Amino acid sequence: ASGRTEQEEEEQRKKEKEDAERRPTIRKLLMLVRPDWPLVIQACVLLICAAVSEVLIPHFIGETVSVIITAGEKGTLASRPFKGPVVKLLIAAACCSVFSACRGATFILLGSRASVRLRQRLFDSLAKQDISFFDSSKTGELTSRMTQDCQKVADQVTLNVNVFLRTMVQIVTTLVFMFHLSAQLTWVAFVSVPAIIAISKKYGKVMQTLSKESQKALAEANAVAEECLSSMPTVRSFAAEPFESQRFGDKLGDYYKLMRRQAAFYIVYLSLTLMLPNGVAALVLFYGGKLAMEGHPTSVLLSFVLYLQTLNSAFSTLGDFYSSMVQALGAATRVFELIGQVPELALDPPEGGAVDSPGRGAVRLEDVRFSYEKGPGTDVLRGLTLDVPAGNVVALVGPSGNGKTTVIALLKRLYRAREGRVTIDGEDVWNFKHREYHRVVSIVGQEPVLFARTIRENILFGLENPGQPSQADDEAVFKATKRANAHDFIVGMTKGYDADISQRGVKLSGGQKQRIAIARALVRRPKVLLLDEATSALDAESERQVQSAIDTMISEGQVTVILIAHRLSTVKNSHKICVVQGGKVVEEGPHDELIAKGSAYFKLVQCQLSAAPAQHSHL
Ligand code: ADP
Ligand code: MG
Repeated sequence: ASGRTEQEEEEQRKKEKEDAERRPTIRKLLMLVRPDWPLVIQACVLLICAAVSEVLIPHFIGETVSVIITAGEKGTLASRPFKGPVVKLLIAAACCSVFSACRGATFILLGSRASVRLRQRLFDSLAKQDISFFDSSKTGELTSRMTQDCQKVADQVTLNVNVFLRTMVQIVTTLVFMFHLSAQLTWVAFVSVPAIIAISKKYGKVMQTLSKESQKALAEANAVAEECLSSMPTVRSFAAEPFESQRFGDKLGDYYKLMRRQAAFYIVYLSLTLMLPNGVAALVLFYGGKLAMEGHPTSVLLSFVLYLQTLNSAFSTLGDFYSSMVQALGAATRVFELIGQVPELALDPPEGGAVDSPGRGAVRLEDVRFSYEKGPGTDVLRGLTLDVPAGNVVALVGPSGNGKTTVIALLKRLYRAREGRVTIDGEDVWNFKHREYHRVVSIVGQEPVLFARTIRENILFGLENPGQPSQADDEAVFKATKRANAHDFIVGMTKGYDADISQRGVKLSGGQKQRIAIARALVRRPKVLLLDEATSALDAESERQVQSAIDTMISEGQVTVILIAHRLSTVKNSHKICVVQGGKVVEEGPHDELIAKGSAYFKLVQCQLSAAPAQHSHL
């Protein structure tokens, strides 16, 4: 028995925590609509107008009917004494519909403005997060936050707030009218209220937990589908479709199980809330009939029953409101969590702490230690020291998985070294301004990542006003593409620089993409150029083209180059070759020197030479 109470206590604590989480969420949601306060006022005014005209309708119906009954009893129906009340009824109905429609429209406007604001804030917050955050989050989950949760918050919250306020005002005005008609009857009707509210509250909490779990399960399923669909060629090549389908199905199964539980709860809740109002109606008719017998006017009983119906539907709406609001708040909590997440690494140094842009581009890593994992883990870089004088070309070579790309990532400020210094011209890289730094230090990665837009926009990616290229931009772009050996093939295309590479029919080869990526790096006129296996994914001809583009740049000597290459033939001419092994530079020097030494570098070369004939025989 004691185990059970412990479990209950734990649940209690969890619930309290969730409640506490929800309260600031509501405040944050309110802050989201604060800039639109005139619209909020408009919505409130319309809300009250609509509610008042709505509550007049049953009143006039009651009046009309009782006029008809009395006139019928007196035989004066020919003079149509009910004309006046019917006109009043029509006017009330017209006002009610116009006010309600305007109220709804105002809420749509409010909701979409809030949703736009929320999405923008979420995106901006995500775009600022540390790269390690993206390493550890699934893209699918982030997109589901971005799409589904935002949608839920925007749609549900505004819809719910609209419905909630409408219902509350409706309840209050209806109650006022009911009290006015008969206080006794109103008290009788009111017994159902606490019961309905208590049930809604209990149900809402259970629903919230279930909904959170089911949303999580759905996000997991979506992540599986997304991963598979985005790598379909690989899935097909390994005939993994049935396996992937099974995986997706399993996740969907988890989701379905949770939804089934939700459905079961719904049965209990709904049957109770549907039954209660009818019980109350019966009670009121019973008691009201007694009063009518005692001489109360019948029009009162008639209006009253109509009001009771309004009240009943209002309360059941309130019950629905509670549970769907709880769902929306769950989504909002997750969205605000992400919005509030502060990245460890600020993009820009603190105000006043920034230094001028790098000068000539001398790169130095001093005894750098780094691990991708937070906390204790095995270090990827273990005291790596690398010295690259300005204008030099230095090659990093070594077996894969030993930290070469990690060096580049640290230089691109994607991560921060745990120990040691990473400097350019003697200044810590983190002291430079974000945009300036990344203009000066440019990268060409192994796989060119281009975006679904025009070639020009891809080259000017991240620079000022890429949407409206100026003349100066054009000249810079041409200069960069010419040096990257890309100009000729681009102008050879039907739409040239305006070719949209997301479009069908615009197919670029790996080598062409890579040359665009090189142009993208060059258009910034970098001081430091980082080339991470920029040619290793290419066929021989593309590699030759790209390599000659790189060679031109290197021979101009205007830029410091750090080059990672798999094929050692491409690094021979570097000023210096550094062998990276076990997260350290174990050997460095010019090619001939290292060959003469006959140590680590020599072994790598030997290894490649002996592998080369084998490779050829495969071709
Ligand atoms: P190289 O470029 O020399 O092949 P890397 O620098 O890419 O080596 O990788 C060095 C080590 O760091 C490898 O063991 C790799 O698994 C690990 N690693 C690389 N990137 C990440 C990452 N984003 N998160 C966690 N570990 C990583
Ligand atoms: Mg690498």
